[in-house]
Amino acid sequence: MKTEILGVRFDNLTQQEAAQRGRQLLEEDKFHYVVTPNPEFLLAAEKDPEFRRVLNAADLVLPDGIGVVYSAKILGTPLKERVPGIEFAEAMLSALNDMGGRLYLLGAKPGVAEEAGRRICARYPALVLCGTHDGYFKDEQAILPEIAAAKPDLLFVCLGAPKQEKWMARWGQHTGAKLAIGLGGCLDVFAG
Ligand code: UDP
Repeated sequence: MKTEILGVRFDNLTQQEAAQRGRQLLEEDKFHYVVTPNPEFLLAAEKDPEFRRVLNAADLVLPDGIGVVYSAKILGTPLKERVPGIEFAEAMLSALNDMGGRLYLLGAKPGVAEEAGRRICARYPALVLCGTHDGYFKDEQAILPEIAAAKPDLLFVCLGAPKQEKWMARWGQHTGAKLAIGLGGCLDVFAG
């Protein structure tokens, strides 16, 4: 069941339910993408119909931020709880670790994804870091063969909004990943 706020339809799930759903998506043999809108996303999406379309076309739309949860309550369609992108990302890393799956990190300044990858691997030793790329490439399409050749199962896309959501919707299917998540500044957080 979806809860609509300013034209964006959120999945009404607990963090645990979102993690379960994410695990299913990771196990299905096709591309899926997840978005984690916060209140700034909603304001941007009001002025950018393409961004709104791409948010609503995601396989999971998770409320990252208490502002979204409060808005839902005020509108009379409460959401079960906040599902921060970084918490969802941790749950997917744990799922990937259980599967012995492959992770690709895309985004942030040069060197950040590598450092984030090193730290993630130290905590989830059974997953494979199959590749990284910084987020300052010129040609949106040119990096696709490199990502596809790395054969990722899970892809973190950290280019900031709305760039990362538009990129996932447009090119995600060509990455070969089963699950991509738009995670904003999370690689900077994982890199410490
Ligand atoms: N970024 C990027 N390519 C770009 C613009 C931004 O890789 O063309 C990265 C930036 O280095 C940062 C992240 O995207 O790591 C965006 O972080 P921000 O905090 O702005 O995003 P938010 O989490 O607020 O969506």
